[in-house]
Parts: sequence; structure tokens; C-alpha cells
Amino acid sequence: MAKFQTLDARVVRSVPLSEFTKHLELEVNGVSHFGFVPGQWLSVKAITPEGEEMTRAYSIASPPGENGHFAFCLNRVEEGFMSNYLCGLEEGAQVTFQGPFGSFILRPPLRDSVFIATGTGIAPFRSMLHWLLADVERHQGHRFWLLFGARTEQDLYYHEEFEGLASEHGNFHFLPTLSRAGEEWKGLRGYVQQHLGEIVGMRTDMHAYICGLDKMVKANRELLKELGWDRTAIRYERYD
Ligand SMILES: Cc1cc2nc3c(=O)[nH]c(=O)nc-3n(C[C@H](O)[C@H](O)[C@H](O)COP(=O)(O)OP(=O)(O)OC[C@H]3O[C@@H](n4cnc5c(N)ncnc54)[C@H](O)[C@@H]3O)c2cc1C
Repeated sequence: MAKFQTLDARVVRSVPLSEFTKHLELEVNGVSHFGFVPGQWLSVKAITPEGEEMTRAYSIASPPGENGHFAFCLNRVEEGFMSNYLCGLEEGAQVTFQGPFGSFILRPPLRDSVFIATGTGIAPFRSMLHWLLADVERHQGHRFWLLFGARTEQDLYYHEEFEGLASEHGNFHFLPTLSRAGEEWKGLRGYVQQHLGEIVGMRTDMHAYICGLDKMVKANRELLKELGWDRTAIRYERYD
């Protein structure tokens, strides 16, 4: 008997976020509710053209809702099978998965927190922040900073959405930073780790959540440890 239940979901919407990135919305077949905790991921299965079964992890990029809907934020990886397969799916296509899995979730008791992402590492934070900010009982007025690194303005997925959240919630600060910004860019420049120190200052009483590729995760963890943070206050998810 399989240890975990295998489910199928139908693609209900596919929206390009940039040349190589897609926002995919799915609906789990045959359920009225699909339960997960913001920050968790699903294990997607597919068969390659060579007949090999492949599984890859993808963070859920939407907050838990009333129905069987969820979203993915997907980046095409050069020569990778699964990322290109998923990015190529059209509305109506079926996706097989197991889950939810993972412990990259908000750590209670809630504290002021900094969320650090690059690229599709934004996915779990889209889920967490929408969920948190939707209810004052959840966020309790704590302050949150989202430090989101990308190359160019075109790579800042959900930019307007996060700006909207920041304008609605005085305790949420959206800080996009670009490593290859054009002259017209008025925001932060450089890598996320170049701005982390300014956000946390001398504080060591916050939580940090870091998501993206290993190199970025490592750089930010090391910086926080140099600033005197306890490692238990830092949670991270590595995509590679
Ligand atoms: C817990 C978890 C959650 C994840 N969530 C997401 C998500 O929400 N969205 C998403 O797009 N990906 C996510 N990933 C990455 C995803 O699981 C795959 O690794 C990725 O899509 C590549 O799979 P592939 O089959 O296309 O390529 P593969 O053949 O598996 O990989 C090809 C090469 O690309 C490297 N690589 C893997 N991921 C990336 C990446 N994101 N960018 C650049 N190079 C990479 C691999 O190390 C490998 O060398 C997550 C990974 C983990 C572990």
C-alpha cells in the first residue's frame, strides 16, 4: 500500500510571469477542501519521454483556501525535464502529486520576521504572507519585511500584488532589489544579502525565513549568524 495518497489536479489557469516563469493555478480533483500549511510543498510526478518516472518538489505559492485550489510558481530550468514539462502545460491538463510535505512553515510564537527570496523562492512567501496578513489575529500587528531579489524588473514576480499588500498593511514592507537594474529603477540595487543588515540592524529577536538557491541561502544564513542570531531563529528551504 502506498504510504502517501496520490492525488490529481487540473490546471485551471496558466499565466506567464516572465519569459521563463509561469504561475500555474490548479484544482485538486474530487475534493472540496485541500489542506496544507503555508510554506509546504508538493511532490509532482510525471513520466519522461523515455518512460522513466520523475518526481520533483514544488512549493505551494498560494494561501490555503476554502476549496481545492492551489498555485505553483515555476521556473524553466535549462535541460531540466519537470520544470519545462510543468511550464508547458495548458489549461485542462492533469498533474499527479503527493503531499503536502515540509516543515518550512511559520514558527510559533510569531515574531517580527524577515522573508528573503530570490526567483521562484518567492512561492512559499506568497502563501505565508497572504495567509498572515488576511487576519489580524494571525499577524498580531507584527512587522514583516519581504526582501525579494531578482535580476531585472521583469523578474520581479507578483510585484504589483506585493506592493498592494504593503499599501494595505502598514506592518508589511516590500523591498525588491535588482542585481541588473536599468537606470530608471528607483528601488534597491544589488543582492539580497547586501540589504539584510539594514533591515535587522542590531536586532536578534526576530525570525528569518530564506528560500531559493543554495548559494543565496548560505550567504544570508552566514550573515545572520555573524550578526549574533541563534540558528533556531533562521528557517530556510533550498531549491537546488
Ligand atoms: C522543497 C523544494 C521546493 C521547490 N519549489 C520550487 C518552486 O516552487 N518552483 C520552482 O520552479 N522550483 C522549485 N523547486 C526546484 C524543483 O524541485 C526542481 O529542482 C526544478 O524544477 C528542476 O527540475 P527539472 O526536472 O526541470 O531539472 P533537473 O534535471 O532536476 O535539474 C537540472 C539542474 O538544475 C539545477 N536546479 C534545480 N532547481 C533549480 C532552480 N530553481 N534554478 C536553477 N537551477 C536549478 C539542479 O541542481 C540541476 O543541476 C523546489 C525544490 C525543492 C527541494
